[in-house]
Amino acid sequence: MGKMDMTTISVVAANLQVVLGLNTRIQPLQPEPDYAFLARRGQFEAGKIIHTLAAIPGSAPFRLGVVNVDIYTPILTFVFGESQLGGKAAVISSFRVQSKNREKTYNRTAKIAIHEIGHLLGIVHCQSLDCLMRFSNSLEKLDDLPQRFCQACEYEVRRHLRHLFGKP
Ligand SMILES: [Zn+2]
Ligand SMILES: [Zn+2]
Repeated sequence: MGKMDMTTISVVAANLQVVLGLNTRIQPLQPEPDYAFLARRGQFEAGKIIHTLAAIPGSAPFRLGVVNVDIYTPILTFVFGESQLGGKAAVISSFRVQSKNREKTYNRTAKIAIHEIGHLLGIVHCQSLDCLMRFSNSLEKLDDLPQRFCQACEYEVRRHLRHLFGKP
């Protein structure tokens, strides 16, 4: 949505496909989610974007919005991403993960995307240092995350994917 570069979108889609085996379908670029903008904070409320995405008719079980504006939730100053636990929709932002090194920006955005889809699959935050489901609220923590799930979360991810899509 909004001023989003399509390479980032492609990288996100490719990662979801490779890491989670999800069939991704990229939708046409949508306008900036102005309805979620809160002037007082100069930020966009993640929850509103998620609700709008979830309400879009269609059969896709998951909808992931990708924005390049600053997003927040009422209890946090900002978030990299937000999702409905075990739900349908999530949103991620590349706004705070920009680096001069493009690879790094793509990598960070992909991690956030996989993490949020993990939540859609019903996976909660994990304490393991070696797991993508660990909570991160800084670039340092995000960069420290591996691009994979720990054994326990991986098991849960596969179980939920099987349940949803009947995949092996
Ligand atoms: Zn999370
Ligand atoms: Zn884990």
